[in-house]
Amino acid sequence: MSDHTTLQTTVANIFPDLVEDLRNLVRIPSVSAPAFDQQHVADSAQAVADLLTKQGIDDVRIVSAGQSRPAVLAKIPAPEGKPTVLLYAHHDVQPPGDESSWNTPPFEPTEIGPRMYGRGAADDKAGIIAHLGALRALGDDLGVGVTLFFEGEEEIGSPYFTEFLAQYREELRADAIVVADSANWKVGVPALTTSLRGLVDCVVEVEVLSHAVHSGMFGGPVLDAVTVLARLIATLHDADGNVAVSGLVQGAEPAVDYTEEDFRADSGLLGGVELAGSGTIAGRLWTKPAISIIGFDAPSVALSSNTLTSRAQAKVSMRIAPGQDPAQALEALRSHLLENAPLSARVTVHDGELGKPFLAPADSAAMRAARAAFAQAWGTDPVDIGIGGSIPFIADLLEVYPDASILVTGVEDPDSRAHGANESVDLVELQKVVLAEALLLSNLAQKTGE
Ligand SMILES: [Zn+2]
Repeated sequence: MSDHTTLQTTVANIFPDLVEDLRNLVRIPSVSAPAFDQQHVADSAQAVADLLTKQGIDDVRIVSAGQSRPAVLAKIPAPEGKPTVLLYAHHDVQPPGDESSWNTPPFEPTEIGPRMYGRGAADDKAGIIAHLGALRALGDDLGVGVTLFFEGEEEIGSPYFTEFLAQYREELRADAIVVADSANWKVGVPALTTSLRGLVDCVVEVEVLSHAVHSGMFGGPVLDAVTVLARLIATLHDADGNVAVSGLVQGAEPAVDYTEEDFRADSGLLGGVELAGSGTIAGRLWTKPAISIIGFDAPSVALSSNTLTSRAQAKVSMRIAPGQDPAQALEALRSHLLENAPLSARVTVHDGELGKPFLAPADSAAMRAARAAFAQAWGTDPVDIGIGGSIPFIADLLEVYPDASILVTGVEDPDSRAHGANESVDLVELQKVVLAEALLLSNLAQKTGE
């Protein structure tokens, strides 16, 4: 079995080729959002499959389930008595957004200092490179069974994930699952993501009049629908900015200290704007619910006229804490909106998504193997972090494979700007990620199947 220094040297030797592989993947604009050309998603599936075939893996397939976008499934059988590890990443990316906000072309990988810029350079083509790199580094010393599953539609919410699990249930079965689609704590400090918030949403509609009327003739005794909806939205938080919907789960305060200074820098909060809510910042992000208004339909300023708007609607998005049941959370939100209708206006709530949160067990053999590998690769102990965002399919994985250890590992750092303009990956960190994953697999190989 390869020891730490041998592996470190091997990873250093193979890393330039891995960076070249990453560049080639970033050049494929594999945006899974339906408005974009889906041929690019097919091309990226093919490019990823080719990399795995070139790696010497015999069983590499491009697969789909239902109407899904193409995923890549590859298998290396487990040696007798050894565990199988499922390595997950996704090859689709977010749309580039407003290209004028990018300093470099989104689909032309550009290296500046230690970072490679480009859409997908971090999220999540770096995840693919982490898995591929670990296999390349270990070569014939792999010592565990490996299943690779690279999804092509994570960025549109993995709509066919449960179909994949149903169709490939036995092929995807594993003792441990490594999801390389999260972030490390900061450059130089690795992390294991042990909690994720879930997500529920709804559209709330307010009606006050059967039709729009002259705001001079009728304004005064009647409040327009936009004002009423704004007042209703304002009830969702208390005066300090804490979520005011009752009956929602709140988790314990995390052990990690996320300073206000770091949060302000990471989020781009404008100078002088105060923070909302109470408790630690990490707690507000990871273990408490949060509500945002992500869409609002009302007359635009350009098309406004002097009328009382009869109807308005908003999309309410609520992040829910680990341990919260999504259906109960949506019910609590719905009840709050209906019970707080200002002036008894007509309020209708249209239910939306139900995404489950995730909370890892306090400890497991696979988590210990991962922490030991991270500590070796970085020379510093990893921290447990939560993520305020959601990866709903993780809950689906846990439901189908309740005995599997799920390890959510990072390829991003706080400045990676996944989904935003100028997305990037720190290549010095990525090399450590590859080494850490090789060490993790090698640690798992030293155990017999669980
Ligand atoms: Zn991702």
